Amino acid sequence: MSIKEQIEKYGVTPNKALGQNFLINEEAIFSIVSAARAENKNVLEIGAGLGAITHGLNERAKKTLVVEIDKAMVDALYSMPWSHPENLRILRADFLNVSDDVIRDELGDDFCVVANLPYYVTTPICMKLLTCGFDIESMTLMMQTEAAQRFTAKPCSKLYTPLAVLTDSQYTVSSVLSTSPSDYYPQPEVYSKVIRLERKERDLSQVKPLARVLKAAFSMRRKTLQNNIMTLGFDKNKAAELLKRADIACERRAETLTTDEFLRLTHVVAE
Ligand code: SAM
Repeated sequence: MSIKEQIEKYGVTPNKALGQNFLINEEAIFSIVSAARAENKNVLEIGAGLGAITHGLNERAKKTLVVEIDKAMVDALYSMPWSHPENLRILRADFLNVSDDVIRDELGDDFCVVANLPYYVTTPICMKLLTCGFDIESMTLMMQTEAAQRFTAKPCSKLYTPLAVLTDSQYTVSSVLSTSPSDYYPQPEVYSKVIRLERKERDLSQVKPLARVLKAAFSMRRKTLQNNIMTLGFDKNKAAELLKRADIACERRAETLTTDEFLRLTHVVAE
């Protein structure tokens, strides 16, 4: 059934404010489902809409937890036929408000994430995923091209933010495919990309301390690292001492630091 027929059948109207641009290109849908490598895994899908990706996940995954904010979409998802309904759990919620406990109860600690992300909330959703501390195996994420570039941004570039450091410290990023406005209904004005984040060897206990250091370090981009680190509750001398122990000059600015330097700084701050 085409997306227009689905929209009519389920009596829904695409809501622009919720980023409802439904993926209609079958090849792109297939590529995302394949890239997710969901076979026998537990999967979290954020923003299922009318289930374009969800059906392929449900065919392959051990269990899929779908989080969708819009009641109209959730009602439609409930009334659809599913290949393995017993493996599908549909939760109506704003993903930003879903607690770790709810996710853990449904999926355990080790799962994959798949999402065609709503554009208006892409960064907060990704920051939540990157700082949650779950042992997420992979994330297959569709988003606007500009947003995707921020995951692999390098130090000293305009797009370099905590998101790039949190990604690089935990995941290897690869590009899956690019899409154009005609791959969606209704058509957005922008081009999008699908990227895949695959977990690296990493120390999950460092994720939240690193996020705290990054928040402080990037709090005022024009200020030096020493000044910004003081917002963690250190006086000027202590901030200088910590930076010295991490082998980082006090007058550096956050956007010049590499992931390894941030990890070193996180280590000495935590000591
Ligand atoms: N997965 C479908 C597809 O590929 O066709 C729909 C993707 S559409 C770009 C984004 C979906 O995310 C919409 O269904 C929208 O209702 C949902 N959404 C928007 N904000 C959300 C939030 N904060 N939490 C969960 N879902 C959200």
